[in-house]
Amino acid sequence: MNDDKKNNKDTGNGPGLIQKDHITIIAGPCAIESHQQLEKTAKIVSDLGLSYLRGGAYKPRTSPYSFQGLEEKGLQFLKEIGQKYSLKTVTEVTDTVNASIVAENADVIQIGTRNMSNFALLKKVGEIAFKKKKAVILKRGWASTIKEWLLASEYLLINGEVEVILCERGIRTFDTNTRFTLDLSAVPVIRKLSKLPIIIDPSHAMGQSDLVTPMSRAAIAAGADGLIVETHYDPTSALCDGQQSLDPKEMAELLKQIKIIASAIGKKVR
Ligand code: PEP
Ligand code: MN
Repeated sequence: MNDDKKNNKDTGNGPGLIQKDHITIIAGPCAIESHQQLEKTAKIVSDLGLSYLRGGAYKPRTSPYSFQGLEEKGLQFLKEIGQKYSLKTVTEVTDTVNASIVAENADVIQIGTRNMSNFALLKKVGEIAFKKKKAVILKRGWASTIKEWLLASEYLLINGEVEVILCERGIRTFDTNTRFTLDLSAVPVIRKLSKLPIIIDPSHAMGQSDLVTPMSRAAIAAGADGLIVETHYDPTSALCDGQQSLDPKEMAELLKQIKIIASAIGKKVR
């Protein structure tokens, strides 16, 4: 594949998650827990004027004793509720076995940090995303270099043009005050090396809700194309990552602050 084809930001072969003059904010719960939980959270996302809803149906949890997700049932809720609120949907694929069903039920397929180097999965998702015109969010492995991350993205592009979006979500360093260390230097470095868009996940990087908004501001100021943020109608009851999820008021405040920064750099928020 020549350089113009690979890593091309405007492939036109996906739902168009990233638009040059816009900041795209994807919001929603870490995991889909129930129909009611997803619907209440989707309503908040929709009322805020956003266009993308996230929610995990297959959860790659570090502990096998943690909530593993509603799987197919969760995908059904995501599709139904996404349609009801006219929100495009983002959900994670964890295995080649569930890749097709994820693509049938969501607009954007997320590959998580733990699977960035699962090359069989990357190839399969690339093939399905190309055929079904889905976008793919490729999270950076928490111990991966930028070069490794970009090479991983090329596995997704082997079968043809796919809308690929990189997502920096924190890398592991020696510090323990935050869950991971958000490497915002990835934004200008990726701009130099690639045409792929890049979004930031401040939720998994910081691991604490009060640290999410400051790093979201910084991400947009650094030139990121968007954010993926965990929000829940009631984070205290969340089955997964409640401590880093924004409640409805905090989510509205984040949006308010991001709009100010976006307008300073000539962009709109969607
Ligand atoms: C997620 O976004 O739900 C998730 C598990 O993120 P990560 O792969 O970055 O840990
Ligand atoms: Mn999470």
